[in-house]
Amino acid sequence: MAYTYDDQNIFAKILRKEIPNDTVLETEHSLAFRDIRPQAPLHVLVIPKGPYVTFDHFAQEASEAEIVDYVRAVGEVCRREGVAEDGWRLISNAGRDGVQEVPHLHVHVLAGRGLGRMLE
Ligand code: ADP
Repeated sequence: MAYTYDDQNIFAKILRKEIPNDTVLETEHSLAFRDIRPQAPLHVLVIPKGPYVTFDHFAQEASEAEIVDYVRAVGEVCRREGVAEDGWRLISNAGRDGVQEVPHLHVHVLAGRGLGRMLE
């Protein structure tokens, strides 16, 4: 499928610094910041700086440097926020069925409480 990136989405505005964010980590190709409506004591969103809509889009079109940077940024957030030992959950909603509200790839990092079993 071909993706069209909407540069008016809220995370694009955060990347352009048009709206503020609570940054946890910034790397060459990625930004991690706290979710404005946290669902757990730790709720961080990790996004690539490039214009990618979903994980699939990113996997197809991002450079290896961007992909390595992004995966490492997610791990670094877990380490820095001190949840590496007790655990965390990563979620990336995509498209209509995934109920993706912001059309810029993001991974939710959730931690800090028992998150319950998601899949039976
Ligand atoms: P859903 O809302 O269904 O989880 P997404 O996976 O697209 O959909 O998640 C978008 C996330 O972005 C939500 O958790 C929302 O709270 C968060 N969010 C929206 N606007 C901001 C903002 N300005 N700063 C930080 N987080 C935001």
